[in-house]
Amino acid sequence: MSKEQEEIDIINKFVQRHKVEGNTPFSYGKIFHHLDVLHEIKHRPEDVCPVTLELHLTNKCSHNCLFCMYKKEIRESNICSAEIPFDIAESIIDDAARMGVKAITYSGGGEPTLHPQFKAISTIGSDYSIDQGLITNGSMLHHKDICEHIVNNFKWVRISVDAGSDSVYKILHGNCCDFSKTIDGIKQLCVINNNRIKIGISFLLTSFNSCDMIKLYDILSSIGVDYLQIKPMIMSKNQKSIHNNYITQAIVDDIETLIQKAEKDNKIKVYVLFDQFKNIIGNEHTFDKCHGHALYPVISAIQEIFVCCMHLHNDSMKYGKITKNNSFYDIWRSKKRFQIGDNIDLSKCPKLCRLAKTNNILDMIDKTTNLDINFLN
Ligand code: SF4
Ligand code: SF4
Repeated sequence: MSKEQEEIDIINKFVQRHKVEGNTPFSYGKIFHHLDVLHEIKHRPEDVCPVTLELHLTNKCSHNCLFCMYKKEIRESNICSAEIPFDIAESIIDDAARMGVKAITYSGGGEPTLHPQFKAISTIGSDYSIDQGLITNGSMLHHKDICEHIVNNFKWVRISVDAGSDSVYKILHGNCCDFSKTIDGIKQLCVINNNRIKIGISFLLTSFNSCDMIKLYDILSSIGVDYLQIKPMIMSKNQKSIHNNYITQAIVDDIETLIQKAEKDNKIKVYVLFDQFKNIIGNEHTFDKCHGHALYPVISAIQEIFVCCMHLHNDSMKYGKITKNNSFYDIWRSKKRFQIGDNIDLSKCPKLCRLAKTNNILDMIDKTTNLDINFLN
């Protein structure tokens, strides 16, 4: 059996053994709490505003991750130091509030907390009562004021750790990084938090760090975080040929051990993103169109708006660039924005992206429109 077929079999058996939980922070069922939006997508799709906005305040980053998703487009390019000026960030959040955006996720691009006005900008969001989430590498959590600000202005924070030891941390996040400093920062955040907001840790599983997964869990279970999220690295064809189908039976066995350990200890939750494992073996799209394109756009640190994070810096998926004379609101209300979103070529999209399940639901609504919908048989 080829290595590739072996990996497919291992992943297939693994995901079939697990029924995906409906009540995790990553549950796709959350879209049913936005029935008005589903209705609008069906009847007035041009008017739909985002539910969640992903905002990249800066491209600057204190880490140098081996598998940074934006290595080529950002880290090794001339936009690696770009950041959104305060007045533009303020106008984006003003517009988001006026458009009815429900939540903003601050992410990268780079490390959001490195933006010199990170606190002032995210205070605007919380003053508008927009829900806010933060994805961070944790490098600023040793600053007490950053921890206090997060706890006072965010609903959740997720820290990418990906290692359980300094040696593996340095391989994954770069030689400049110090594992114990990051863990100390997380400890400080948990103490200041005192169970107010949700604190999660993410672990991007690769062939380099699988040995550290349980070690990290053991460290975290005494700190007071809420969950550990495990997701696999989805490799491009090129990376796959180097790392040679890295999901092995031993790795899957370790994840099973971890799941059982977490259930028994009942200290922190372990969420395994099974859909991402399915993405490795490349299922087909189960919907015909990206109906939900308006729901979760991303604004990059160079102020450009893209359909979604999977297409960041893909010019054909760019709605426009925000300037003093061309606001987020103006771009969103333009015909061009809707036309780009409405004509997405699905062959360029991953099979199980964030909106895949939402697209399934919307596809079903679309396809049953002309049936006798009032007969619920
Ligand atoms: S912390 Fe995030 S943005 Fe920074 S190098 Fe790592 S993956 Fe890239
Ligand atoms: S990856 Fe494709 S299908 Fe998924 S949200 Fe983005 S554009 Fe839509």
